[in-house]
Amino acid sequence: MATKIDVPGVALITGAASGIGRATAIAFAQAGCTKFALLDLNEGGLQETKGLVEQSVSATDISVGTYKCDVSSPESVVSAYTAAKEHFTRVDYSVHCAGIIVFGGPSADFPVEDFDRQNSINYRGLWLCCREAIKIMRSQPFDCEAYPDANISSVRAQRGAIVNISSGLALYAQPNCPAYCGAKAGVLALTRCDALDYVADRIRVNAILPGIIDSPMTNPSPEIRAWLESNPVQHTPMKRFGKPEEIADVAVFLAGNKASLVTGASWAVDGGLLAGYN
Ligand code: NAD
Repeated sequence: MATKIDVPGVALITGAASGIGRATAIAFAQAGCTKFALLDLNEGGLQETKGLVEQSVSATDISVGTYKCDVSSPESVVSAYTAAKEHFTRVDYSVHCAGIIVFGGPSADFPVEDFDRQNSINYRGLWLCCREAIKIMRSQPFDCEAYPDANISSVRAQRGAIVNISSGLALYAQPNCPAYCGAKAGVLALTRCDALDYVADRIRVNAILPGIIDSPMTNPSPEIRAWLESNPVQHTPMKRFGKPEEIADVAVFLAGNKASLVTGASWAVDGGLLAGYN
């Protein structure tokens, strides 16, 4: 049984059609949230996630809105966040999972188009989402006022919380993906800046650094998955893939009021990968 979140607020999740984003939506539902804004480019995947969220709990009052959104487009991001705010009146938790990885080679061989595409989704796109989330959160009442039944103390109350999905590759390098590593490092810097700038508004902003997670991103083909499992995964202290749910559970914790003193932090969730090469 998942740990209950103190405030069953509105959870907005990008990249919700697959992998970590999908698991995060389900984890928020199991934690007690009933209102969801799920964003992704992939509409079919969003519908699947909606069905899984609805089936994952016995609550009958679950409300899931799906929004086709390309996080690389400012217009698309503004439109999706505006629609979610209009429908649900507020956004308590915004978890940014949308991302891609392109192995384009080392820098001298790396096509500019691939560099720009990764940045436009993994870094600039995530920033666009943070920006809209912050605009909504800073103008909404504290959760202790919006959800009086949750009995949140004024010290631990928040207007909202953001969780950005970065990567262990923000802090260590892997061959042939300079744009991905750079974008994910940018996410950590951005997380710290937003945490600082909006601390007085009581908006917390944190990042998660997943290790090697068993999701569609790491399964482009059976050969690549097998290679990952018998090579880099074996060098992690736990010697296993992480599960999307293991990232999702930390995202729920960081978003909720139990993490009320945590902001600007980068949490490694990686089976010990950053602790040392095994
Ligand atoms: P995934 O491929 O299963 O999910 C990524 C989701 O992002 C997909 O649903 C996809 O449609 C969506 N997406 C891609 N481009 C988009 C766009 N322009 N606009 C909106 N949505 C878009 O991968 P995942 O493993 O669940 O990855 C989730 C996040 O975790 C990513 O940011 C990824 O970089 C990060 N991450 C993953 C791993 C891993 O090992 N899987 C490790 C570290 C970090």
